[in-house]
Amino acid sequence: MEQKIKHLTEQLNRYAKLYYEEDTPEISDYEYDQLLRQLAELEESYPQFRQPDSPTLRIGGEAKKEFEKVQHEIPMESLQDAFSKEEVIEFDQKVKAIFPDAQYVTELKIDGLSVAVEYRQRQFFRGATRGNGTIGEDVTENLRTVRSLPMILPKDAPDRLIVRGEVYMPRPAFETLNKTREQNRESLFANPRNAAAGSLRQLDSRITARRNLDIFVFNLQLCEGMSFASHTQTLDKLNAWGFPVSPFYSRFDSIEHVWEEIQRLGKIRPTLSFDIDGAVIKVDSLEQRALLGSTSKFPKWALAFKYPPEEKTTLLREIQVNVGRTGVLTPLAILNPVQIAGSTVSRATLHNQDFIEQKDIRPGDWVVIRKAGDIIPEVVRALTEERTGPLPKFHMPDCCPSCGGKTVEEFPIVRCNNIDCPAQLLKNIVHFVSKEAMDIDGLGQAVVETLLREELIHSAADLYSLQKEPLAALEGFGEKSADNLLAAIQVSKAQNLDRLLCALGIRQVGQKAAAVLARKFGTLEAIANADEETLTAVEDVGPVTARYIREYFDEERNQAFLEHLRQAGVNFTFRLDQTGTNLEGMTFVLTGTLPHYTREEASALIQQAGGKVSSSVSKKTSYVLAGAEAGSKLKKAMALGIPVLNEEDFLTLLNRTKSL
Ligand code: NAD
Repeated sequence: MEQKIKHLTEQLNRYAKLYYEEDTPEISDYEYDQLLRQLAELEESYPQFRQPDSPTLRIGGEAKKEFEKVQHEIPMESLQDAFSKEEVIEFDQKVKAIFPDAQYVTELKIDGLSVAVEYRQRQFFRGATRGNGTIGEDVTENLRTVRSLPMILPKDAPDRLIVRGEVYMPRPAFETLNKTREQNRESLFANPRNAAAGSLRQLDSRITARRNLDIFVFNLQLCEGMSFASHTQTLDKLNAWGFPVSPFYSRFDSIEHVWEEIQRLGKIRPTLSFDIDGAVIKVDSLEQRALLGSTSKFPKWALAFKYPPEEKTTLLREIQVNVGRTGVLTPLAILNPVQIAGSTVSRATLHNQDFIEQKDIRPGDWVVIRKAGDIIPEVVRALTEERTGPLPKFHMPDCCPSCGGKTVEEFPIVRCNNIDCPAQLLKNIVHFVSKEAMDIDGLGQAVVETLLREELIHSAADLYSLQKEPLAALEGFGEKSADNLLAAIQVSKAQNLDRLLCALGIRQVGQKAAAVLARKFGTLEAIANADEETLTAVEDVGPVTARYIREYFDEERNQAFLEHLRQAGVNFTFRLDQTGTNLEGMTFVLTGTLPHYTREEASALIQQAGGKVSSSVSKKTSYVLAGAEAGSKLKKAMALGIPVLNEEDFLTLLNRTKSL
């Protein structure tokens, strides 16, 4: 039991860190809440095994170190949750045992990020995230970009005021944001809550400003010189002062009416333009609240009823099979389009054959789908009772749908092991050039498909020997787009080692592991030569990942591929500085031939780092970058006393090193 509690604690702490601190949840909130509840129950039965870092004792996550910290004057508590009517009634009984006349307020539970906003002399002064409830992150500048938040309060407002609210991203803004991110080949946000949290916790408030965040205020934390008798009075006042108060709040005498309202709010949930994950019940009287008090984590006068994830029924038209980058075959449900949680859904993952068999899902079935934590919904169950005749069972194919090669079963996964499989090759190249990896602008899946079809490339390394003429001759291309693409490919040669490592697509080596490995080893050679034991000693690299890394570098084809990249001049060394803006405000003039960079490449590096390139030397020139056989520009620079850099000096200035 001790092991079980320890394991659950570790698991939940990991999920909470991903959710609160990195805004990239791995499981749905519903699953998280169920696991947390399981832990709480075990801890209650075996309190001696409760871990000191148990998530049942703590609120939220730690403040990010990049932000200034704010100590909350009034602690920002969490809410006790409930999933059934019985729990709601139990809450009522506890409250009524002390205050038989208690009245309740019901509100929507907005699914966003909690903030405290302070006003001084009736002006917006500061805003902070909840953090761990006591210390949050200063997000003042970012909150200024939330248009509905008043910056100045009317004359009858007090000199000092702190309100609490929930910053959220309206569903349409979320859809637009993810669409743009998809076009830019950036990773997508799992849901509006994570998008809101990721957008508010930005170091650059110009990014926050573009994200169309909004806020609902739901509590008066502090109001100097004024007192109120009830929560509803404070909400009315906040409304009158111009705050966007959470809509649909109402007051009730009996828990039966509260329950009816919870049901009603659940029904209007799909029609709202923002996400909610429940309804909140609060005792209305502020005096009663003060007497009821709080536990270490939540107030005893409030309860959050959590709705289960939204479910819809639709027809499963067919099951398609996708081949992934690592050759894994994934069955995909093609559905009759249906609206769920604010967006249209026409596909859902079916994971693997075992999942399909366990749920007895067959093409032609009516199925219940649910949007969980991820963007791709899941099939909950098949409505087998709706079948009007026999439906054929689905089987994963024996042959790869892309290359026709025999598939191999590694239960529960079916894999195509043909390394020449076109689907895998395509996905590998798309991954290689993606935003997270080598970030080659203008090279999306469609262009990669064309390049492969026209046999201009056979691997990602071939990109570096692409020629302009055949590229410009492709349909939809032309001289200009060919030039742009070639320039972007050239620039990518200088990408840092962590990006290259991620681009290689080694199993289990994503952005994070790649960054750790690159930092630790410094060069690709060092990683390629490390044995499994050395690799396993690296933080975040387990024995399985270490084995995959070794397998990758031991494979002759991969060695040839890397040699191809090396000969093309791709950087194999890790550089510390990745800010990319260290040349801001500087103007460069290029002259002569540099030993390792063409003029286009050097210009691109300057521009990437925020600098400008000019064709003539003047007093305004910051540096002249000179190579062999430099001509009159060098002379002019010397005459004007402008500093002259060779390639090495230039790279030092860029804080870049290049393995040659
Ligand atoms: P909570 O979200 O369940 O409830 C507290 C929060 O509700 C408050 O911070 C407040 O900001 C918000 N809220 C919204 N509307 C409100 C209103 N009208 N009145 C009062 N409060 C309102 O609790 P929590 O401690 O913030 O976090 C737990 C949540 O985070 C759960 O939903 C959990 O599933 C999720 N979570 C998910 C993962 C994951 O991996 N998916 C990990 C950790 C936490």
